Amino acid sequence: MSKNRINISMPSLTDAKIRRKLGVETIKYELDPKYKDLGKGKTYYIFTYGCQGNEADSEVMAGILESIGYTKSDDPFMSDLVLLNTCCIRENAEVRIWGVLGQLKGRRKNNPDMLVGICGCMPQEESATKKIIESYDVDIIFGTHNRHNLPKLIYQAYFTKAKVVEVLSNEGNILEGAPKVRELKHKAWVNIMYGCDEFCTYCIVPYTRGKERSRAKEDIINEVKELVKEGYTEVTLLGQNVNAYGKDLGLDYTFGDLLYDLDKTGIKRIRYTTSHPRDLDLKTMEAMRDCRSVMPQLHLPVQSGDNDILKIMNRKYTHEEYMAKVNKLRELVPDISLTTDIIVGFPGETEEQFERTLELVKEANFEGAYTFIFSPREGTPAFKMKDDTPESVKHDRLERLIALVNEGYLRGNERFLGQEVEVLVDGESKNGEGMMCGYSRHLKLTHFKSNDLSLIGKLVKVKITEVKTWFMIGDLVED
Ligand code: SAM
Ligand code: SF4
Repeated sequence: MSKNRINISMPSLTDAKIRRKLGVETIKYELDPKYKDLGKGKTYYIFTYGCQGNEADSEVMAGILESIGYTKSDDPFMSDLVLLNTCCIRENAEVRIWGVLGQLKGRRKNNPDMLVGICGCMPQEESATKKIIESYDVDIIFGTHNRHNLPKLIYQAYFTKAKVVEVLSNEGNILEGAPKVRELKHKAWVNIMYGCDEFCTYCIVPYTRGKERSRAKEDIINEVKELVKEGYTEVTLLGQNVNAYGKDLGLDYTFGDLLYDLDKTGIKRIRYTTSHPRDLDLKTMEAMRDCRSVMPQLHLPVQSGDNDILKIMNRKYTHEEYMAKVNKLRELVPDISLTTDIIVGFPGETEEQFERTLELVKEANFEGAYTFIFSPREGTPAFKMKDDTPESVKHDRLERLIALVNEGYLRGNERFLGQEVEVLVDGESKNGEGMMCGYSRHLKLTHFKSNDLSLIGKLVKVKITEVKTWFMIGDLVED
């Protein structure tokens, strides 16, 4: 592209690997008054891809944009500012984003003043940023550690007409006090920590998200208390490995302690994601047993059931250790619903090793799983591992795994047939006219007959009359 470039900083995967014992900077968000009306009379649209962490980041960016005068648009292609908050966990996540960038290129012809920004995980990759700069018509490129600089970056892009690139490959910071526009009025994301220090050999996240860093417990508790005051019913605590909460703070205060404290805030429902099996401790399991607000549901990614593959993945637990935690959890929270993540076709995975995964899926009695074919990510150790399993074999394994997992989904719903479940109502159901839907305490999608929109955000009782693989159907129980 012919545009000049304000090349503030480019990503470096080498720098992103470094973990120093430096303290973590907490940035108190403050808006420079010179940007106060930057977006006045203008519209924005944010495309969000990937995990809940990205959804939470988009809510912060929306808050920052609205604080400088932008209003949300319904039509991305007619907006004055379009941001793509990206994911690069697997190759197909990136392929979608190249597609949207291509579409935007055409639409800019009708709207030449439109600013296009790309942010989130993709710009943290050296090769992706190079490709964006060289091949796409993008004005602003920034990463995961500097979303608070958004007003400055927009200002530079508007007034210099240059391509602005600011991607920091450091260990990251903690942003407090930034405005947020939350997507929903009854369920909220609450970040409790950022980054990841696990370095699973297939995963790009520790390079794109920086080191593991926990927010101060007071900030988290105050945020949840505020949400209770605003009428929120459910929070989902977010982090790549929430079970490691507090380790970096060097205090005698862990994730289990945080659950007990949050239970006292008056919030009715607490969920959390994601858990690393190695760090899931007894206190957390006891908090799940003791706190009514902590939902009887857990996403506990296992990745593989084979000990050799787990070792090469650097997961730091064995099949047997994983099952011991599952069994302890079921002892303390007998009706818990467990879900997981599984990767098939990791480099060198044999048929026997894959079958160990199938065995574990049966033993753990999962009620759902996200299943993936291994996707090589440049910069990770697994990228360079010899991978001679044919694609057709990987697809066949994935299909067999999905068939088994689907049996678990259905079994998980069947156990509620004839029972009354508590549902937090999200809205009208896409399953047909006159139906509404929400999630039960065990995170089961539940549809029921009603067109009473005033129920949105409320907890209702539903008697389950029919179950399918992906959802349950029932009748509203009037009090
Ligand atoms: N921190 C969480 C954990 O450890 O489970 C989730 C991280 S990641 C956003 C979500 C899932 O993507 C992982 O659990 C893993 O199954 C999958 N994943 C990560 N890297 C992958 C890769 N290179 N290929 C295929 N799947 C991958
Ligand atoms: Fe990736 Fe492993 Fe960290 Fe999860 S725990 S984000 S899979 S490195």
